[in-house]
Amino acid sequence: MTTLTFDSLNPATGEIVGSHPKQTPDAVHEAVGRAQEAAAWWAALGHAERRRRLLDYKAVLAQHLKELAELVHQETGKPVGDATLELVLTLTHLDWAARNAQKVLGRRRVATGMIGLNLAATLEYLPLGVVAVIGPWNYPVFTPMGSIAYALAAGNAIVFKPSELTPGVGVRLAELFAESVPEHPVLQTVTGLGETGAALAADPRVKKVAFTGSTATAKRVMAACAENLTPIVAECGGKDAFIVDDDADLGAAADACLWGAMANAGQTCVGVERVYVVDAVYESFMRELSGRVSKVKAGEQYGPITMPGQVEIIKRHIDDATKAGKVITGGPGSVRAPYVDPVIVEDVPEDSPAVREETFGPTITVRRTRDAQEALSLANASSYGLGGTIFSRNARRATELARLMRSGMTAINSVISFAGVPSLPFGGIDDSGFGRIHGADGLREFARSKAIARQR
Ligand code: NAP
Repeated sequence: MTTLTFDSLNPATGEIVGSHPKQTPDAVHEAVGRAQEAAAWWAALGHAERRRRLLDYKAVLAQHLKELAELVHQETGKPVGDATLELVLTLTHLDWAARNAQKVLGRRRVATGMIGLNLAATLEYLPLGVVAVIGPWNYPVFTPMGSIAYALAAGNAIVFKPSELTPGVGVRLAELFAESVPEHPVLQTVTGLGETGAALAADPRVKKVAFTGSTATAKRVMAACAENLTPIVAECGGKDAFIVDDDADLGAAADACLWGAMANAGQTCVGVERVYVVDAVYESFMRELSGRVSKVKAGEQYGPITMPGQVEIIKRHIDDATKAGKVITGGPGSVRAPYVDPVIVEDVPEDSPAVREETFGPTITVRRTRDAQEALSLANASSYGLGGTIFSRNARRATELARLMRSGMTAINSVISFAGVPSLPFGGIDDSGFGRIHGADGLREFARSKAIARQR
C-alpha cells in the first residue's frame, strides 16, 4: 500500500524541507486510541512526576534549540534569530506550566459555610483525557506549545496536528518528548492537511480541541465538535489597534508600532494592523514612524510571507488602502512575492477591507483622531478582539483605556508584551475566539473541576 505524502517547502527558496505522510482518518483514530491509553498512565503519574518529566523535556528542547530554530527558519522563512526567540519564549511557558500545575490544579479544602450541615469539601482539577491541538504556521512552536505545555502539565495526552506548512517542527516536538517520556505516546503528532485536522476534531474520544488558526476554520472545527459536544478553545485572528495618546513618548511608540507591525512580516495574530493617533501629536508621531520605517526592508529585518495564498490577500488590502487613502510608505510595488516591504497608508476609510479584515502582512493603516476616546471607539469598532496597545505617560488614563478596549489583552507603553508572560492568560473575544491558554486559566482550560462534599 502506498502512503500519500506532502512536502513542506522553504517559502523563501521553494526548496523541499521535508516530506511527511498525509495521515488518513484511520491513522488519526489509531493515534487517538493510543493517546487514550497514554492519558490514563500520564494522569496516574501525578503532579510531581509530571513536573519532573516536563522540566526534563524543557532541557531536551533547550539542547536541540539550534536544530529546532533552523527547522522553524526553513519551514516559515523567518530569520533564525526570530525563530530562536520563539523557542526561548516557549521554554519559559513550559517551565511555568510544569512548576505551577499542582498549585493551580491540586486538591484543596474549601470552606462550606453551610448552616446546620457539617460538610467537609475539597476541590481539585482533574485531567480531561485526550486533547487535540490543531496549530497554525506563523509561530509553529510557540503557538501550539501554548496549549500543549499547559494541557500536558494538567495531565492530558496530546494528539497534535501541525499546519501543513510546518509539519517538520511539529514532528520533532513529539520525537523529542519521547526522550523524556519513553513509556507511552503522551505527545503524538499527526501530519496532513485540513482533512487530518477534521478527522481529529470529529473523534468522540477527544475531550477537548485546542484550535489556533483563522476564524473561518474555527467555525468548521466547532461544527465538527458539536456532534460530540466536544468543547473547544478557539484562538483565532485579530486586527489589533495601537493608540497613541497626546502625552505618549513618541519615539518609544514609533519603535513599538513598527516592531509590532513588521515583526514576522506582520504574520502575528496580535500584530499591529490599525494605528490611531491623537491629533495633537499626529505629525510628530508620523515623522518618528516614517524616519524609522525607511530603514526596514523585507528579506533583511524580516522574512518572506510563509503561506503563498496570503500574498494575494495582502496585495488586495494594499491596493484597496492605497486607492482610498494617502500613502506614507510603500504601495502596490511593495509586493515582491514572497516578500512584502513595509506599507503605511493614512486616512483609509474605516469600512474598507484593509481596516476591517485581518491582513497578516507588514502593512498598517493610520488615522488621526480628535482624542483618545475617539481612538478607543474606532479601535473597538472591529469584529475582532484579540490584543491591542495604548501609549500614554498617564498611567491612570492608560489603564482605564486598556480596560475599556474590547480585547483579551492590552499592552501599555509596550507591544505584544502580554504574550511572553506565562502567568497571564492569552485569548480573545468575538471573532478572535474564546477560551484561554497560558497562565492559571490556561491550566484550568485543560482540566475539569471535581468537587467532593463529605458529611462529617
Ligand atoms: P488555518 O488555515 O485556519 O489553519 C489552522 C489549522 O487548522 C491548520 O493546522 C489547518 O490545517 C487546520 N485545519 C484546516 N481545516 C480544518 C478543518 N476543517 N478541521 C480541522 N482542522 C483544520 O490558519 P493558519 O493559516 O494556519 O494560521 C493563520 C491564522 O491563525 C491567522 O488568522 C492568525 O491570526 C491565527 N493565529 C491566531 C493565534 C492566536 O493565538 N489567537 C496565534 C497564531 C495564529 P492545514 O494547514 O492543513 O490547512
